[in-house]
Amino acid sequence: MARLGGGRTDSGLVTLDEAAADAVSRVQPVSGTMKLPLAEADGHVLADAVIAPLDLPPFANSAVDGYAVRFADLAPGAATRLPVLGRTMAGEPSALLEQGAWRIFTGAPVPEGADTIVMQEDAVAGDGAVMLPAGIRRGANLRLAGEDVARGHEVLPAGRRLRPQDLGLLAALGLGEVTVRRRPRVALFSTGDELTEPGRPLGPGAIYDANRAMLRAMLARAGAEVVDLGILRDEAKDLEQQLRDASAGSDLVITSGGVSVGEADHVRDAVLACGTLDLWRVAIKPGKPIAIGSVAGTPFVGLPGNPVAVFVGFAFVARPLLARLAGEAYVPPRAHPIRLGFAHARKPGRREFLRVSLEQGVDGSVVARRHPGEGAGSLASLAQSDGLIVLAEDVARVEAGDSAPFLPYAELL
Ligand code: AMP
Ligand code: MG
Repeated sequence: MARLGGGRTDSGLVTLDEAAADAVSRVQPVSGTMKLPLAEADGHVLADAVIAPLDLPPFANSAVDGYAVRFADLAPGAATRLPVLGRTMAGEPSALLEQGAWRIFTGAPVPEGADTIVMQEDAVAGDGAVMLPAGIRRGANLRLAGEDVARGHEVLPAGRRLRPQDLGLLAALGLGEVTVRRRPRVALFSTGDELTEPGRPLGPGAIYDANRAMLRAMLARAGAEVVDLGILRDEAKDLEQQLRDASAGSDLVITSGGVSVGEADHVRDAVLACGTLDLWRVAIKPGKPIAIGSVAGTPFVGLPGNPVAVFVGFAFVARPLLARLAGEAYVPPRAHPIRLGFAHARKPGRREFLRVSLEQGVDGSVVARRHPGEGAGSLASLAQSDGLIVLAEDVARVEAGDSAPFLPYAELL
């Protein structure tokens, strides 16, 4: 049933990389931008590159509390005594220094003529003069105008998902608002006759809907505006109508459950009745089945039902797709090597994600410990771990003490 020609493994599964690339290729960035004050811009995607309207720092200033001097007035290789002729505090205009020393404070403009600042800790002041030690470096403790950012240069690229430090930079440049892209609207629902809304009584054979709470938060962190459509029953006609309704005004429809191969495939039938669908068997563990297609012209992603499979499928397939929808310059999650505190043998062929916690050993080194909950349904294993060890498709076994790529959840969310 997998549609892809390339990227198949021996068993007819689609590789994760191929699935993600194909998913991303199916969507275009949303159009529409808006201006937001900096106070509301965190996590939004920059519509255009930001060009610095001024130098940073805007003027030469002192990095320390001390004395501004002209380097030429210091005796080479010996201490120098100079009269203190004035002082400048932060926020005051720049003075003029023709000779001697000038008392100066951190952030204050350096007097014109001065080219070096001596820290007050290195100086001995008294009687209107100051004794400066030998060995001062020319240009010491001076922050030059434009040394951090030069006016006219690009400081942030289009597509940057704004972070706190980016907002700090924009503020330092005097920009009170910023043009960002509209956030993608994502319609979300869960499917399954067994599902109950948290907070309601649990009937026989029922379980609470866990996926929607998780996906709502993952979508929000990915910058989406979530339209929460609740729980849908396993009934193809109802599902079809709900899918049609959900697609109107949304940039993406995302569901969980009802796509496992061999089950009563309600989601598949409903999507096919109003759109297109490929049901991929992706070469990952957990998370194999992922449905992708469109409903009434709107892109559709159908994640599996098991919560850990949902988490993995979202992180590695839906997240890059959302990044493209959002117009975000997406950086795929970067894994760092970490030492394993366990051995693991398996049948190669799929990329496997093991839930681990990081522990610091007695020697201070960090070791990854596997969570005992291994099943694709174990929410505790996700909630009680720090991230995922990634085993490449061809890896058959790892030993305790081996190094393996680790993806902290912070990289995925
Ligand atoms: P399905 O793909 O619909 O057959 O679901 C696979 C497994 O995931 C079953 O055990 C379902 O009960 C469970 N499941 C499906 N949807 C959810 C959900 N929203 N929250 C928690 N578990 C779910
Ligand atoms: Mg189901």
